[in-house]
Amino acid sequence: MLVLNLALFGPPGSGKGTQSQILQERLGFAPVASGDLLRAEIKTGSPLGREIKTIMDRGELVPDAIVDRIVQNQVRKCVGEGRSIVFDGYPRNLTQLHKLEKMLEELQSDLHLAINLELDEDTLVRRMTSRRVCPSCKSVFNLITHPPRREGICDNCGEELELRPDDQPDAISTRFAEYHSQTEPMLNYLGDQGILQRIDADQTMEKVHEMVADAISDQRGQLSR
Ligand code: AMP
Repeated sequence: MLVLNLALFGPPGSGKGTQSQILQERLGFAPVASGDLLRAEIKTGSPLGREIKTIMDRGELVPDAIVDRIVQNQVRKCVGEGRSIVFDGYPRNLTQLHKLEKMLEELQSDLHLAINLELDEDTLVRRMTSRRVCPSCKSVFNLITHPPRREGICDNCGEELELRPDDQPDAISTRFAEYHSQTEPMLNYLGDQGILQRIDADQTMEKVHEMVADAISDQRGQLSR
């Protein structure tokens, strides 16, 4: 299958993590999820991890230099293995995007498609406060749209589910502000490059996946021409 690197965008709570998970399971994409990589660093208990946790719990963005370093190894590994990548939460601003473009170019690869999952802010806040994540296997649930079979327990590994500290209301407002100021300008740039698709994400997980999968096969068709 033709390699296709896809970046998923969308405001916090728009379902990037869920769609990325489905793409991994059904289409064999390799994930590069900066939030997960940063949370993994926090888990090691390193000084860097503690620094990251303080920033992340406030809902602010982690400095580019730290994120780039953490993401870089993963990108190299996936490209080296010839796998299609789904970027989730990265890049977050134009500086990170240009860094990624350079990194992919050096690896004789490219960013082939960007998808923005669009949803209004009230719906997003409702979604985020009902989101629960598994600290162990990283599965994502939602008490309204995708509840676990047993309350508070992960379907996949039986671990107790958590509300992320950055899904608390104060952190949520900071994250929206960051999204508007940092991430939206990037979408204009990607639009100009002709690789941005906008998808109405106020639909079921399956329906959104169908549209994402269609955008992927259209783009694969274009690339193979
Ligand atoms: P996420 O899991 O993508 O919602 O990210 C959770 C938090 O991790 C964000 O609010 C930021 O504090 C941090 N983070 C994740 N990805 C990035 C990134 N690419 N650049 C800066 N900070 C990030």
